[in-house]
Amino acid sequence: MTLGLTADLHTHTAYSDGTDSPAQLLAAAAAAGLTTVGLTDHDTAAGWDETAAHVPAGMRVLPGAEFSTKHPAPDGALVSVHLLGYLFDRHDSGIVGEWDRVRDERRGRGARIVANLVAAGYPITLERVREISGPSSISRPHIARALMEAGAVGSIGEAFDDLLHDHSPYYAALRSTSLREGIGLIVDAGGVPVIAHPRARAAAPVLTAQVIESLVPHGLAGLEVRHPDHDAAARAELADIATNLGLLQTGSSDYHGDNKELRLGQERTPDDVVEAIIDRGAVAPFGA
Ligand code: AMP
Ligand code: MN
Ligand code: MN
Ligand code: MN
Repeated sequence: MTLGLTADLHTHTAYSDGTDSPAQLLAAAAAAGLTTVGLTDHDTAAGWDETAAHVPAGMRVLPGAEFSTKHPAPDGALVSVHLLGYLFDRHDSGIVGEWDRVRDERRGRGARIVANLVAAGYPITLERVREISGPSSISRPHIARALMEAGAVGSIGEAFDDLLHDHSPYYAALRSTSLREGIGLIVDAGGVPVIAHPRARAAAPVLTAQVIESLVPHGLAGLEVRHPDHDAAARAELADIATNLGLLQTGSSDYHGDNKELRLGQERTPDDVVEAIIDRGAVAPFGA
């Protein structure tokens, strides 16, 4: 049996830090030959309704989100870990409470990063960053875009490399819920939790095989094995861990429109994994 590879399960719209509207995202997905898209804006389901209203014939959308969580390193430092959740009840009180908290937290934190940059002489304003983020909460890519517009950097990537990375003097951390609590929130709301890009950036040394194993009894369902930030060795290691622990293996582009240099559908998830996620989720996919 050959498995279809027509699903990209990790995408962002302008409801978080992507640049596409839901309709633009779905048109791009159809053009890329995808038939299943995971909608995973950061810490919000605000784009679900508009996306549900624009699903073209032959396409289905797994509504979800990418949760900002933290997990302690051996030295006790809290490291940022992203957690994908699919097909959960977005009205669940645990999820609603968590996202209210994150929204308030992002408001002050985005302003702090901007103030740090302004104090150092970078020619941006909080007003302009707010215009760029629109109704969504401020994420670092919005600040990166303002820096690029002002000519302070040549690209979004350069803004992160030089000014916005986690160890930058201008950075301000987001207070996040723990990875284990995040998994619990998604499971309690009937959803399917999958750790996003476990070998990307700072999270890699923290998410050892032992740590991942310890999360399985809490309901962890899968690992995002194929991701643009993962090299061949990382993919092989994660595939081994997932196989040993009986976890689902997903593949996704982490598409952000013009805010990241990635192609929608450049990494994909096999159909049988998509079906397993749909079987476990409390909510039906949008569309076909
Ligand atoms: P925040 O949630 O505000 O801390 O911003 C994190 C977001 O920044 C991530 O979700 C990515 O979309 C984006 N990001 C992180 N590192 C980079 C990078 N090197 N280049 C472009 N975007 C990045
Ligand atoms: Mn992002
Ligand atoms: Mn992420
Ligand atoms: Mn993402």
